[in-house]
Amino acid sequence: MAIVTTEGIVLKTHALGDTSRIVTAYTRDHGLRKFVAKGARKLPSRFGYALEPLSRSRFVFYLKPDRDLHLLSKAEVLDALGSRITDLSRIVHAQAALEIVDRLVWGEEPHPRLFALLVQALDGCSRAPLAALPAVTLAFQLQLASELGYRPRLDQCAVDARPVSQRRAFSPARGGLLCDACAAREGGVVYLSPDALASLSLLLSRPILEAGDFIELPRAGELLRVIEDFFRTHFQRFQGLRSLEVLRSLEGPEPPARP
Ligand SMILES: [Zn+2]
Repeated sequence: MAIVTTEGIVLKTHALGDTSRIVTAYTRDHGLRKFVAKGARKLPSRFGYALEPLSRSRFVFYLKPDRDLHLLSKAEVLDALGSRITDLSRIVHAQAALEIVDRLVWGEEPHPRLFALLVQALDGCSRAPLAALPAVTLAFQLQLASELGYRPRLDQCAVDARPVSQRRAFSPARGGLLCDACAAREGGVVYLSPDALASLSLLLSRPILEAGDFIELPRAGELLRVIEDFFRTHFQRFQGLRSLEVLRSLEGPEPPARP
């Protein structure tokens, strides 16, 4: 058993008995980990804000190989994001980032680029203009999928590598654009607008915080549906994001698409 120090983002917590908590965190050096925080539910908690979802914290824990749960010794908050942001839509978008990591990422292998992406996404949720939040979420979803080995193919047909259709035929199931022949054969093809395709390409390749600079809000709904279809097909554990459904229900029906 080794004592280990690492930085991580708290994804969620559960009560354990009367006084303790189980904390799920995505850590920079040890992947997804679950910690037992003894006494964490006593008030005032000796952990302060360090175990709250959205917090970026430094954890000191007893690493037991082949165990699912590790005993937390210390936790010190580095950034209490949940206490800094009060706007509901910022919180909902930040929670969507946590939710997607919790659903799609597993295992204890470190993946520093993915950790950095999550930090960037939460940073974006805390300070991007409110109108840019959907773009921040979309950029994070696409770049996370790419890190997990599912980068949407935009440069050639995702089935047979021929030149893509001028009609911008995107197949969520095939994971990218198609040529005319494949588009005619495939079900579930979505024909993207020129703006949506341009946005998709930029969202995949540019820093998350810049996402709001090149995507228009009316296009976010179109892209969100395409990307969620893409996730549903490729990730069994992805069944839509509850956090974003909450936001949609608060915002009412989507405006009609532009002709
Ligand atoms: Zn093709």
